[in-house]
Amino acid sequence: MRTAINGLSASLGKNPSLVQGPGGNVSWKDGARLHVKASGTWLADALDRDIFVSLSLPDVHARMARGEYAFAVDGGPGQSLRASIETALHALLPHRVVVHVHPVDVIARSVREGAQAAFASLMEGLDWVWIDYAKPGEPLARAMQRASDAMGRAPDVWVLANHGLVVGADDPERAWRVVEEIGSRVAVAPRRAPLQPNLERLRPWLDAGYRLPREPIAHALALDPLATETAQSRWVLYPDQAVFLGGAGLFDPGEGPDARQVHPLGPVVIVPDAGVVVADGVNPACEAMLVCYSEVLLRCGSAEDIVSLTDDEISEIVNWDAEAFRRQIAR
Ligand SMILES: [Zn+2]
Repeated sequence: MRTAINGLSASLGKNPSLVQGPGGNVSWKDGARLHVKASGTWLADALDRDIFVSLSLPDVHARMARGEYAFAVDGGPGQSLRASIETALHALLPHRVVVHVHPVDVIARSVREGAQAAFASLMEGLDWVWIDYAKPGEPLARAMQRASDAMGRAPDVWVLANHGLVVGADDPERAWRVVEEIGSRVAVAPRRAPLQPNLERLRPWLDAGYRLPREPIAHALALDPLATETAQSRWVLYPDQAVFLGGAGLFDPGEGPDARQVHPLGPVVIVPDAGVVVADGVNPACEAMLVCYSEVLLRCGSAEDIVSLTDDEISEIVNWDAEAFRRQIAR
């Protein structure tokens, strides 16, 4: 099981359309043990190092029965890593293998008005349920518990609004097949966007300690008008975007680095009609999230049809200690 889980984790983690940076998690249940990805580790590393922590499943269930749903600080005796912030979610599903990913296509479809009805037809025949947006960690696990209680059982597939996907299965192979099946059902063709930055206009930023992003797709945020409009008017569409790109976007209206005085937030600067720059020293998780955000926006239409996170929901995420830990250890 362990070898197959590592293979599944690495395959998921190395696919940027499913998992970005340290996002997503995998678990398996082995008798009385729950093995779950450690917070801040990358699924992509599963074949190279041990990314899992092991917890007593009866203990986790007992704590949940007492209303304790937050396990991020307890990786178990002798373990330096913290269990995933989504540990309760993994424990509440009865499936032996549980996979949680952030597929670009699922995010793009789930942020649209009327998304639940659209998924209902796309997912026909699958054992699935829709979960309205809830903050990751305890609120999300509680929302899933309520849905499960209402249905009288835990379905195999959970579509999380403005977030991603959870799949439960008997074994790693089945989990992979279900993720693939959903991927082919919900695939959205991205708009083709111009990706050539205007270096002359970006020069003031490049001379001020910023650099071009590694992946040219990020320039879509500045060069695709619909993407720029949505980023400007909506910004945060899903939790990991706020964690790794900041709770507010920084748009240079043409003043160059002086704009930092006005909007001191964010490791990424979007210069409309010119391109995108990132602060020198941003971590790979930030770059991975920049690619994901661009891919999501190229799969969304007009900003009016998009449901973003509210200011309260954003501040719950950016001011959350467990996420600060994940950001801090991001490689
Ligand atoms: Zn997630």
